[in-house]
Amino acid sequence: MAAVAGGQIDSVMQEKRLFPPPKEFAAKARIKSLEEYQELWDQAAADPPKFWADLARDELHWFQPFERPLVWKEPFAEWFAGGKTNVSYNCLDRNLAAGLGDRTAILWEGEPGDSRKLTYAELHREVCKFANVLKSLGITSGDRVSIYMPMVPELAIAMLACARIGAIHSIIFAGFSAEAIAERNRDAEAKLQIAADTGWRRGKALPLKETVDEALAKSPTVQKCIVLRRGAVAGLSEADGAGSGPGSQTPATVVSMQAGRDFWWHELMEKASAECPAASMDSEAPLFILYTSGSTGKPKGIKHTTAGYNLYAKKTFQWVFDHRDDDIFWCTADIGWVTGHSYVVYGPLSAGATVLMYEGAPNHPDESRFWQLIEKYKVTIFYTAPTAIRAFIKWGDQHVKKHDLSSLRLLGTVGEGINPEAWMWYHRVIGGERCPIVDTWWQTETGGIMMSPLPGAIPTKPGSCTKPLPGIIPEIVTPSGQPVGKNQGGWLVMTHPWPGMLRGIWGDDDRYKEVYWSKVPGKYLAGDNARCDDDGYYWIMGRIDDVLNVSGHRLSTIEIESALVSHPSVAEAAAVGRPDELKGEAVAVFVTLRSGEPNDALREQLKKHVRHEIGALAQPDDIRFTGALPKTRSGKIMRRLLRDIAAGKETVGDTTTLEDYSVLAKIRGDEE
Ligand code: ATP
Ligand code: MG
Repeated sequence: MAAVAGGQIDSVMQEKRLFPPPKEFAAKARIKSLEEYQELWDQAAADPPKFWADLARDELHWFQPFERPLVWKEPFAEWFAGGKTNVSYNCLDRNLAAGLGDRTAILWEGEPGDSRKLTYAELHREVCKFANVLKSLGITSGDRVSIYMPMVPELAIAMLACARIGAIHSIIFAGFSAEAIAERNRDAEAKLQIAADTGWRRGKALPLKETVDEALAKSPTVQKCIVLRRGAVAGLSEADGAGSGPGSQTPATVVSMQAGRDFWWHELMEKASAECPAASMDSEAPLFILYTSGSTGKPKGIKHTTAGYNLYAKKTFQWVFDHRDDDIFWCTADIGWVTGHSYVVYGPLSAGATVLMYEGAPNHPDESRFWQLIEKYKVTIFYTAPTAIRAFIKWGDQHVKKHDLSSLRLLGTVGEGINPEAWMWYHRVIGGERCPIVDTWWQTETGGIMMSPLPGAIPTKPGSCTKPLPGIIPEIVTPSGQPVGKNQGGWLVMTHPWPGMLRGIWGDDDRYKEVYWSKVPGKYLAGDNARCDDDGYYWIMGRIDDVLNVSGHRLSTIEIESALVSHPSVAEAAAVGRPDELKGEAVAVFVTLRSGEPNDALREQLKKHVRHEIGALAQPDDIRFTGALPKTRSGKIMRRLLRDIAAGKETVGDTTTLEDYSVLAKIRGDEE
């Protein structure tokens, strides 16, 4: 490994395993070989706007055809300019017109075990009714609607109803505090709040409406609030499965309703008409605002618009998940994150897919809940996060073994890099060594998946998101914008606009230009480091801000973490730099254990293990054992907080998106 200059990053990881797509899988896939993928990619790269325009004509319904594929006034993009369409129409009416009214759109299971099913025709009806409810409360095109709900079908109904009338939704994950809701409501200047009285999480009914009441006291622009009664299922009869199952009891909480401001969802729906034509929306009409996870700092209100986002969510869903009509697709992400927006709702529904939606925790009533759901609903495609996979590994294979997972044909991951050993476990224990794994790299900002294997075409390597999708042209550069060589780590950028890209940060064009477009002129700066290997495979190396600088070598977080996770005693690891007079930075790691006792002997063993796996340079100087790592509410490790702790700082940066505040105190208290 040579010393580097110019901000490149050394790669020390050695991962050589290769898994070609199973023959049977490839034979039936949409894209069947590496050659076919390459051909499509080359064709798209030759003229990206033309490539996307050809798809847009076929894949979306146009009330008025667009005139120009792309108007690019860097950094502002207008895709499919002059066209008019509607996302709700594309997800619903277009499927009904294709004769899919009786197909199941949403299979839903509540945490207590209650279940429901909605066909496309039923979903269409509910959405039309709720769109009329929104209108009756004075909501019109361009108004912002804030949504704070658990994972229930009404959340999807509310989104699609907003889209139907051109209102812009801002969904806030139903685990955030009142302060976080209020901050987002003020930033978006939301006019209406949609909420639920409660939601189930690990056996407890969360008092969501109480939190909302507190938030609304500090959200001056919000005039009205619609409240769903979770448990008593509005709008559906017993025959549809409403209220059936062991958990049909209504949570025993008293909800205070403020006269003139608060309205019950089911009361408004009773009177609503089921006729509501979809509004004809400009291609660039904003569809939603979504705040990022806050891994690197204060969340940004990312703006997405209509046609480009819709096309991108749909096509990436079809390509990456190789969707077929008989698939049961389960994305475990909460709709409060972009993964839920694009791959629980907009992507799958515009493709006419059947999705499973689950309300609660993976470990309620016990750690086998996900596997039981896969068996019960015969899930064929399962898409989850590395943080969940690491938890499954820790909980043990016995929970998996109790269930028949033979319906699965494809697995996916998103949200963080997956450590190769976690990938191997996923492949072996969940996939039965038969299912390809799509490791999908993307961001709230990108709207949909950017890099991922196409499961019938691209052989996988554990820990690599492999190759860019057609129409996506990445590059790896130094901070001065020079391309780096093969196997050199550097900044990941995109050289061309794409339809799913963010159109800005809500109300803050300057920050948009600053964060994404100023550091490498003319290119989209993703904020992650990556390297590209000899086969043209991309390996994400962690956040730009998180690079460790050890004795003049710049090291990536994930490689050190993956080396630790490959030790049988380690469940999770986070690596950060700590200021050090001699080396510039020392390597500090925080480790949670899968088995074994935290002690000095294990500490020494782990140091040796890392040295053996990836070299002396990356050997940790400090190892702290901890019961848990600080994570965002979307489950990502917050290294910036650990960096502050490792440096011995008294106070740490913005913690508003931290999942569990007690973790920081515990880590501080953990004895060295
Ligand atoms: P913020 O931008 O507020 O700091 P965030 O970046 O965590 O929050 P998201 O948009 O939810 O918000 O996450 C996108 C980031 O997640 C990517 O930039 C990348 O760092 C990480 N990521 C997502 N998928 C993968 C993947 N498959 N491999 C590696 N990293 C991934
Ligand atoms: Mg980010």
